[in-house]
Amino acid sequence: MSYKESLKSFFIRFKRVIIASGLCVLAMAIIGVVAYKSTNQVTINKNEMVQTSAPTSVSFIMPIKDGEIIKDFSNTALKYNSTLKQWEAHKAVDIKGADNSDVMAVLSGEVVSVESNYLKGTVVTIKHNKSLQTVYASLDENVKVKVGDKVKTGDVIGKVSTSAKSESNDGAHLHFEVLVDNVKTDPNLYLNLGDK
Ligand SMILES: [Zn+2]
Repeated sequence: MSYKESLKSFFIRFKRVIIASGLCVLAMAIIGVVAYKSTNQVTINKNEMVQTSAPTSVSFIMPIKDGEIIKDFSNTALKYNSTLKQWEAHKAVDIKGADNSDVMAVLSGEVVSVESNYLKGTVVTIKHNKSLQTVYASLDENVKVKVGDKVKTGDVIGKVSTSAKSESNDGAHLHFEVLVDNVKTDPNLYLNLGDK
């Protein structure tokens, strides 16, 4: 092989190496784009999942006619509890109405529990579907429903009271919770509270 020929063959090999590396870079770029797109896809799907389980298709009536929110929901921010004299998260909304206000089922469902305890007073829980439940605490002990009752939106289940000893300083009111898969969730997502 002459000097010229070997130089030529060197350049041919050199060219192949360049082309090969170029292809590698291109392939990696394509893989990168595909991977990025599929990650985005997952995010989009996640959002869709969140949206489908979000409460857009369900909306409640107010459990108390002309009810006024006296303490709003807080997941982590601390709110002062003047009865227990402590700061705490309040995973519910407290709603006050006129004296002896009726408390209504916010949506049709089945009563799954009626119980009493010192801190929350008389508590009725209604199951609306597989994952959604509403909890009505601080009710007067004379509740109008029992376990197994089917209720319709607006059916009266009891009256407000000060039975929840953990919130009795706030006067007669309803301590209203929303459970989504047993997790206390912001009732504002379901209630149309207007300018509360
Ligand atoms: Zn409360």
